[in-house]
Amino acid sequence: MQKRAIVIGGGMAGLSAGAYLQMNGFDTRIFELNETPGGVCTSWKRGDYTVDWCIHWLVGSGSSDSFYERWSELIDISKIEMVDHETYAVVEDEHGDTITLYTDLEQLEVEMLKTAPEDVDKIYEFVDACRKLAKLNMPNEQSQEVANLWYKMKWFWKMLPYLGVFGKYSKISTAEYASGFQNPLLRKAVGHLFEPEVPILFCMMTLAWMYKKAAGYPVGGSLNFARRVAERYEALGGTFHYNSRVDKILVEQDRAVGIQLAGGELYFADYIVSAADGHATLFDMLGGKYLSPEFEEYYQQRKTFPSLVYVAFGIGRTFQATPHSYLFPLPEPIRIDPQTEIRDLHLRVHNFDPTLAPYGKTLLSTMIETRNWNYWVDLQRNDPEQYRQEKQQIANALIHVLDEKLGNVRDLVEMVDVTTPATIIGFTNNWKGSFEGWLLTPETGFRQLPSALPGLDNFYMCGHWIAVGGGVPTAMLSGRNVAQLICAREQVPFGTLEPA
Ligand SMILES: Cc1cc2nc3c(=O)[nH]c(=O)nc-3n(C[C@H](O)[C@H](O)[C@H](O)COP(=O)(O)OP(=O)(O)OC[C@H]3O[C@@H](n4cnc5c(N)ncnc54)[C@H](O)[C@@H]3O)c2cc1C
Repeated sequence: MQKRAIVIGGGMAGLSAGAYLQMNGFDTRIFELNETPGGVCTSWKRGDYTVDWCIHWLVGSGSSDSFYERWSELIDISKIEMVDHETYAVVEDEHGDTITLYTDLEQLEVEMLKTAPEDVDKIYEFVDACRKLAKLNMPNEQSQEVANLWYKMKWFWKMLPYLGVFGKYSKISTAEYASGFQNPLLRKAVGHLFEPEVPILFCMMTLAWMYKKAAGYPVGGSLNFARRVAERYEALGGTFHYNSRVDKILVEQDRAVGIQLAGGELYFADYIVSAADGHATLFDMLGGKYLSPEFEEYYQQRKTFPSLVYVAFGIGRTFQATPHSYLFPLPEPIRIDPQTEIRDLHLRVHNFDPTLAPYGKTLLSTMIETRNWNYWVDLQRNDPEQYRQEKQQIANALIHVLDEKLGNVRDLVEMVDVTTPATIIGFTNNWKGSFEGWLLTPETGFRQLPSALPGLDNFYMCGHWIAVGGGVPTAMLSGRNVAQLICAREQVPFGTLEPA
């Protein structure tokens, strides 16, 4: 008889787990809180504009990286128009001096040397490491949890030339590495490549992926991209239950047997996969009963990616001369919430995607990080008017800054959209409003937490609360890994079916 699996959560991990299980003969259902697939990989309409929330770069967008093969198992990725930016960002200091972080490593090296000749040795070291990583095509077709010895040996052999780079740069945070540059502008630019706590290796890998055109942006935006995977899932025979909040995982004699929805309905299956928020899965749906010491340590001590105040504007003009990713200092700090103040603005000018704004107009956005998620949740719940006003104040302050900096903005604002940590929690239930799950740090290293829980049978987890460091491709891969584990358990050889 066909085995049944229930997947909780229709973000990228859940879509992937569902699709790969369907490819391998399982009968699956995805239960999703919202009425759209994709989880945080999403976009939404505001008037004539589309606010694109998620994908800045998609690893595997081009065929030079193995993630391209994985995406090709799910969708015809070659049909998606990808934008490979020539620049990662332009960074400006308080004197108005700028450095352009090119994605072409030769240009990047020249620009860095021009900006900071005093840092010549460290620049060569940095760019050489990126060049080396650009040659790496990390094998990912087999989950490490099911891989046989032969595959592990092959994997190790392929990784061998890179172990030195991995060993050296995975132990240094981006902030610490950046502090080694003498030139303040270069120090700022490297320090802002990504989160300051993330190993510099991650930033080097990102630049390497961009250099080899394997980390582009899919035109049409994040939700469109997620929808393609969702359509494939349905084409493979999978069933969605949208607007379905799972409250409880049903367990009989330490075996997961089903789920209970918020409305009380019960559904049963042979396997239960949670691709939903990790904290809610472990502590609410399972009542905290199945925790390994490692999970306890993570949930008590480890850092998550921060939450966000995300502000988008629709502006009735083009911004041809403004970089698509532009970090510049503010004349005055802007207060975001009682714990958060920003001194620089990281502006995104989405003119590389014409689908997001009407012709001749532009979507602008900025992602402002905050760890004060409690404040926003309380404010939204207890004082909705003040919540609305604080969002408006942030938007007004930013419009003022943009008007001063870029000119001709204030009078052309056609759309304003401000989301807060309360939005993230309300929409996807991600713990602490984190936008990407567990923060990757030198202490966590690049790793995947176990998908199975001690003492609980027929149950697996995937997504950015398992794959430390998160990301769209990583979440997808962790869903695929769970499908491999379930196939191994059923003694079914894992296979893939390319889209028709
Ligand atoms: C602003 C932003 C920018 C980002 N930029 C990038 C980028 O450039 N590149 C990149 O690779 N990654 C990026 N990421 C990270 C990446 O999008 C995520 O790490 C990844 O999509 C996580 O997928 P997931 O399926 O693990 O989790 P989620 O997307 O959180 O999916 C979990 C799903 O479970 C559902 N759910 C939760 N609780 C329940 C319940 N009780 N019952 C039913 N359903 C439930 C949620 O609604 C959600 O759909 C970004 C994220 C954000 C927010």
